[in-house]
Amino acid sequence: MRVSLFRPSPIVKQSASLFSHLSVCPHPHFIHSLRPLCPCASEISALIPFLLIPHAILSPKMETDLPFMQEALAEARTSASAGEVPIGAILVHDGKILARSGNRTIRDNDPTAHAEIIVLREAARLLSNYRLANTALYVTIEPCTMCAGAIIQARVPRLVYGADDPKGGAVRSCFEILSNPRLNHQVEVSSGVLATEAAAVLQSFFAARR
Ligand code: ZN
Repeated sequence: MRVSLFRPSPIVKQSASLFSHLSVCPHPHFIHSLRPLCPCASEISALIPFLLIPHAILSPKMETDLPFMQEALAEARTSASAGEVPIGAILVHDGKILARSGNRTIRDNDPTAHAEIIVLREAARLLSNYRLANTALYVTIEPCTMCAGAIIQARVPRLVYGADDPKGGAVRSCFEILSNPRLNHQVEVSSGVLATEAAAVLQSFFAARR
C-alpha cells in the first residue's frame, strides 16, 4: 500500500460526520487533550491526530493502536532514564506483544541498536523466521533509513509510528523508502499515534542535556 499523506482510511471516510459533530460538540476543550474525557470523546477521539497533526497518516485501527503505542512510549521513557535517546518500539504478532525495546546504541556500543532493529531481531528469533508475517511494528518516532530498510527486509506488513522526524525520517520526512514503487514489499503505514507524547519525551530528554 503506497504511503500517502491523505490516503483515505475508514476514519477519514467517517470524518465528514465526525467533523459535523465537532461543530456542535459541547466539549471543545477535549480537542487539546490526547485523553479526552467528554461524553462524546469515544466517538470523536479518532479525529484528534488529524486535528493536532494535520499531516498524520490516520490509523484505521486507532483503538488497538493506542495501547500498543503506550507500551512503546514506556520503552522510550525507560531508555531515557538509561541515558539513551528515548525512542521505543513494540513488535506485535497476531495481536500480542512479541518483543519490546528502547534504543540501546550507547549501552551496547552498537550503532545499529535502534529500538526497531532490536525488536525485529528478537521477534525473528522467537518466530524462527526472518520474515515477520502477521506483525505490526509500533515505534514512537518515524524510523530512520536503516530501520526502514530492516522493515522491508523483514517484510513487516504494518508500521505505526508517533511523531515525524524531520531530521532523518525515512518514511516520508526526508526519504520515502517504504513507499518506493521499485520495492516489491509495500508497508501499510499509520502515523501521528500519540505523536505529541512521543515528541515530548524526546524534547524533554534533549532539553535536560543542554
Ligand atoms: Zn533507526
